[in-house]
Amino acid sequence: MRVELLCTGDELVTGLTTDTNSPSLEARLFELGVKVRRVVLVGDVREDITQALREAATRADVVIVSGGLGPTADDFTAECAAVAAGVPLVEDAGTLQFLRERAAKRGRELTPNVARMARVPEGSEVVPNPVGAAPLFIVRMGGCRLFFLPGVPSEYRALVNGEVLPRVRAELEKRPVRTYRAFRLLHTMGIPESVLDVRVAPLARAHPRVVFGFRTHAPENQLKLMAEAPSQAEAEAALAAAEAAARQELGRAVYGADGDTYHGVLGRLLTEAKATLALAESCTGGLIATQLTGVPGASNFLMGGAVVYTEKMKTAWAGVPESLLARHGAVSRPVAIAMAEGIRAACETTYGLSVTGFAGPTGGTPEEPVGTVYCALAEAGAATRCERFSIPGDRDMVRLFAASNALELLRERLLTVAAP
Ligand code: AMP
Ligand code: MG
Repeated sequence: MRVELLCTGDELVTGLTTDTNSPSLEARLFELGVKVRRVVLVGDVREDITQALREAATRADVVIVSGGLGPTADDFTAECAAVAAGVPLVEDAGTLQFLRERAAKRGRELTPNVARMARVPEGSEVVPNPVGAAPLFIVRMGGCRLFFLPGVPSEYRALVNGEVLPRVRAELEKRPVRTYRAFRLLHTMGIPESVLDVRVAPLARAHPRVVFGFRTHAPENQLKLMAEAPSQAEAEAALAAAEAAARQELGRAVYGADGDTYHGVLGRLLTEAKATLALAESCTGGLIATQLTGVPGASNFLMGGAVVYTEKMKTAWAGVPESLLARHGAVSRPVAIAMAEGIRAACETTYGLSVTGFAGPTGGTPEEPVGTVYCALAEAGAATRCERFSIPGDRDMVRLFAASNALELLRERLLTVAAP
């Protein structure tokens, strides 16, 4: 089924209002196996709306139109629908009665502009609006059905859920060949999008029933798998095979699926390992602590930490020897190691994690330019691991990736301990 959405309103094309009606409907349609073919936004211009209706009706089986059904001078979608369909506007007696009673309940007369909402293209199916005034009307143009809904989000939603989707579903169920879909979102950390694409390309060829899609949500990259098949069981099976292959290929870079969050997964790993963590943050300024304390139950694994932004505080709170700072500078391997070990000792935790770097835009040295970040992970009975990173991007990006790179040291270690 080819479905298009058409939203009208000057507010949508002048930066005043973002179209929020379409995304929720798109998602609901997608659950039914229908991917919306096109979403069109049109300002309040009669000729443009009329033309957009005509064009959509020639392409689609179903068009869902929002906006322009109200009582104000800029509401003329019904008029445009009548012109596009080549029929006159007629008064719907039921709607007129409803509008009169609605006005009376509010102690008002039915004014002509409100009464205008009862005028619909001749031959329309008219459905009352359960939460507002303007009704839904359905117009046939050739092989296409056009649903006209008020743009007010609460009214749009009520009519979409109560009237439009049930009709679309009934229509789909009548069709002999149906497409069933199954989805999985894999979250990856630590591999750039371009690398992900290259590694996944052979899998996409080997799993033709599965569409592989990519989405960057810094610092992570997501792999979307969508299987399509003539039955739900086949879709699930195709998805399971593609997911297994992707997990095999990407290994530990896949940290979770669907609703998992990175910090939630990390918290679970720490809790399962009965391990505790302390942080010494310089350039991330408490970002890691903020991220981890966003996880419910964070006190099970995060004991505390310190924002040690200056050299003085690195010494005072993370126990970094002054001589080390003098010899190597604050952004250096020895200082990152001392920070991790010092904070672990101070907080008496399983792990101590540190970050020190140049977030920019100024600072840095010829050897350690802006974007240079050292992260270290300390634990008892093992050498402290320290990594140097060169992170591209602006200050926000450097700080974001400094935090995730540091946490990746920890995640990698926890996975190794759990399954050596
Ligand atoms: P209308 O039905 O055109 O009178 O729209 C009524 C109000 O609903 C507008 O003033 C907007 O605030 C809101 N609205 C209309 N269309 C949309 C849309 N696509 N997304 C979000 N809000 C909308
Ligand atoms: Mg409008």
